[in-house]
Parts: sequence; C-alpha cells; structure tokens
Amino acid sequence: MPELAEVELARRIWEPALGQRIIAIDTHPHTRVYRDTPAASIESSLSLQTLLASRTHGKRLLFSFDPNARSVPRLKKELPSLPPPQAMLHLELHLGMSGRLFLAAPDYPTAKHDHFILRTRELSLVYSDYRQFGRVFLHPPVADPWSALPFEVLDRRFTLTYLKRVTSRRGGTSLKALLLDQAIFPGVGNWMADEICWRLPCHPAKKLRDLELGLVRKVSRQICRGAMRHVADKNSPRDGSEGFSPGRYVEQVPPPSWLFQHRWKAGGHCPRCHSGLARGTVATRTTAWCPSCQGAA
Ligand SMILES: [Zn+2]
Repeated sequence: MPELAEVELARRIWEPALGQRIIAIDTHPHTRVYRDTPAASIESSLSLQTLLASRTHGKRLLFSFDPNARSVPRLKKELPSLPPPQAMLHLELHLGMSGRLFLAAPDYPTAKHDHFILRTRELSLVYSDYRQFGRVFLHPPVADPWSALPFEVLDRRFTLTYLKRVTSRRGGTSLKALLLDQAIFPGVGNWMADEICWRLPCHPAKKLRDLELGLVRKVSRQICRGAMRHVADKNSPRDGSEGFSPGRYVEQVPPPSWLFQHRWKAGGHCPRCHSGLARGTVATRTTAWCPSCQGAA
C-alpha cells in the first residue's frame, strides 16, 4: 500500500488541474470504491465545481472544490483566493493497494478499471484501481473534515510530549506494531517502519517500554523527511500521463544507503555492516532487519 511520500507524489499528478472547472464526471457506479458515497451523489455534487486545493494526510488525499469559483486560465499562475472552508466541498480519496492517479486528454476513453474520471476542458483526471480496495467519498460540508485526525510525524505539533501521551498505555506493544498504527504514525507503512527500526537501530519486535521514545520520534521524522525528498520530490512528474502506481518508484529511490534497496533482494545484506539480513513476521507483517545492528527483541 502506498505510504505517505507515495501518496504525496500521487497528489501532485492531479495538480495541473487546480483552478479548472469540472465539466463532466465518469464513474463505474457499482464498484466497491463507492461504498461510502454513491457514485450518483458524487457526480451531482461535483458537477461544474472548480478544483481549488488538494492536500494529503498520511495515506489520505483530499480534493477541495468551490461551487462559485470560475475556471482560471492555464497561463494565469495564481489561483483565486480560497473561499471560506465551510463553503467548499471536500472529496477524499484512498489509493488502497492498487489505486493509481494519472492525467489524460479531455476525450480520453474510459477503460475497464477507471472507476472515477473528472473532466475539465483541458484534462481528464483518472483514478484507476483494478483491485478496488481504494475509496472515493464526499465529506459533509464542514470547515475542515480532517480537524480530528492525529498529528502527522512531520507536523510541528508531533512533539515528544504528544508522542508520550498517545503511547502512554502501549508499553507492551512492539516497535513495529506501534509504527504501523495509523492513529500514531499516519502514513507510515511496512517499508518505512522497517527503515525506522533499522536506522535506530533496534529490533522491530522490541517492546516500547524498553525504548527511548525521544529517539524513536527523531528517527521517524528523519525517515519521513527523507522519504518525501527521495520519493515525492525527486519523482515529481513533468507529464502526468504515466501517473503514479505503487512500485514504479522502486528502482529509483530511496538510495542504496537505505535498507529499502536491500530488504527483499536474494542474499540481501545490511548496507551499514554488510551482515546478511534476517526476515520474518513481526506485528503480522513481513519484516526485514539486520541481526548484527538491530540486536535481539
Ligand atoms: Zn547491520
């Protein structure tokens, strides 16, 4: 499943459509991606709305529309100022295991797995998902539909005091399970959790009560920042037609000094000490670690 930097990369694919008015919407109404909001409601709500903003939180994407804004010509760089948030309509999108966003020509013909297409005069914004674990849904009109979400790791409010508070009853939890908990580390998934454990270094099954939480915070922030730089910034597409799909970035990033590039290679070695890597199941997920650097649980 895409993790925070891959989700940010996906968001940037649709950025060229900011300021453009939605003139048509195509859906496959009976697919599972509409299990929260019926496709017909999304179509009627977004018709003739202008896409004004987009953002991410962990593994979530949010696209915000304004019913009153006019389309902004492409050559004009500045978007109109944002309306009061409560006047905007917010569409949330989850990529699931296989969701993919890409851009296409306005007359792009809908393909079998394209479950959601927003069309402007200049572009088609396509969401394709052959396994349908993703979701597309509308929020009720509120100022900020994400106001109750936990702080993200790179948020300045993700302080040691905050982390101590949200983990206060989790002393018996393994580090890997804690890192995968989306209520504490939103957007961190399997590869980033392994990377954080390796960078600490610390065995992924080690219990939280045996760890220095300040160090966990520091290293998790380093990995989130590095993932954003290597995955989102270095791969930002000039042309969105290829879009984002999980796995496409793997050959390019992160660099060989990260565990990421070695963890599933046959005979993979630790990039720090060159010992053979260990693999097993920790917190129900396949996990790779270095037995020399990361010690015992
Ligand atoms: Zn090692």
